[in-house]
Amino acid sequence: MQKVAFVGYRGMVGSVLMERMKAEKDFNGYEPFFASTSQAGAKAPDIGRDAPPVADAHDLDFLSEMDIIVTCQGSGYTQKVFPALKQSGWNGYWIDAASALRMNDDSVIVLDPVNRDAIDKAIESGIKNFIGGNCTVSLMLMAIGELFRKGYVSWMTSMTYQAASGAGAKNMRELVSQMKKIGEQAGGLLSDPEASIDELDRNVLATMTATDFETENFGAPLAGSLLPWIDAGMEDGRTKEEWKGFAETNKILGNNPPIPIDGICVRIGAMRCHSQAMTIKLTKDIPLEDITQMISGSNEWVEVIPNTKERVIKELTPAAVTGRLSIPVGRIRKLNMGGQYLGLFTVGDQLLWGAAEPVRRMLNILLGKL
Ligand code: NAP
Repeated sequence: MQKVAFVGYRGMVGSVLMERMKAEKDFNGYEPFFASTSQAGAKAPDIGRDAPPVADAHDLDFLSEMDIIVTCQGSGYTQKVFPALKQSGWNGYWIDAASALRMNDDSVIVLDPVNRDAIDKAIESGIKNFIGGNCTVSLMLMAIGELFRKGYVSWMTSMTYQAASGAGAKNMRELVSQMKKIGEQAGGLLSDPEASIDELDRNVLATMTATDFETENFGAPLAGSLLPWIDAGMEDGRTKEEWKGFAETNKILGNNPPIPIDGICVRIGAMRCHSQAMTIKLTKDIPLEDITQMISGSNEWVEVIPNTKERVIKELTPAAVTGRLSIPVGRIRKLNMGGQYLGLFTVGDQLLWGAAEPVRRMLNILLGKL
């Protein structure tokens, strides 16, 4: 029986992965093991069957016995352990949620509803490293990958509205703490219907700009504001998150030459759903009806939302999509610039299709279950 180790099972992505695997009854047909950098010796997580105590995630002897290693631990861990394990002669499959190996020639970025053919070819050709993509890229491709696959995209911009969860659990807590503080400070004014809106506005601003306002993780107020910078800066003025939109999308699709993709990535005060507004220059003037059909037929999770206020504000929002695998796409329309210019909006849970789901499915592909 194959041995599969899960490293990073208790982090944010890891715990969503565990939940999804339990929900899908995935823990069968192989021997599961769990490893941690801090919990070695602890009881294995509850997966509905027995598993040995948690191993030390740095123990190369343990890891080298595995046929498949699934890690949601982070790039620091991958950079430390992966090369050492390879050097020791290990030749198993490495499935990773972190970005460290994504752009390597011997890695495939996995998003099987979009690039299953590339995944199958890679397995056949002996590739061993299968890496989950950037959350925003995966969600965008789940929504409109079909337009790329059909060769209809000449260029694209993606303006993002990204949730706090992309920055980690501490940041999610900080966002809610900021909201709480703003609400507490404004409480008296809110309960007085006669209080002026000007005073309320000044009160909120004073809270957000006070020196004791909690900004340790984001570095600035996010509640009541936004942050148009995600990840590290690059020399050309992009952020790394913006660069990934171009680099990872083209790698997943195997585009050569690459399609120009760019945009501005913005952190907003949503908890765990990323949203994106796309402007696409099509290679030709395709009727809107055909585009809508192409998008809605591209995979079983995408859902086209009719362009009415009622439907859009109920179904095309982070609040509506959190915890769901569905990928709503809406506001689909031709832009004033001409028939080749398409605008649309999409939302997705970045811990599901943006992180855990492609990894979960990749494991099932390797195990021959999908
Ligand atoms: P995370 O929540 O910070 O978890 C990473 C590790 O932190 C855990 O596996 C755990 O390792 C340790 N940890 C320390 N204290 C913990 C606590 N109180 N509760 C749980 N875990 C704790 O990281 P993540 O957001 O899941 O991200 C993991 C990787 O996936 C990163 O490389 C990230 O870039 C990538 N990724 C993340 C997202 C996302 O939306 N967050 C999306 C796509 C990809 P030990 O058990 O060894 O202590």
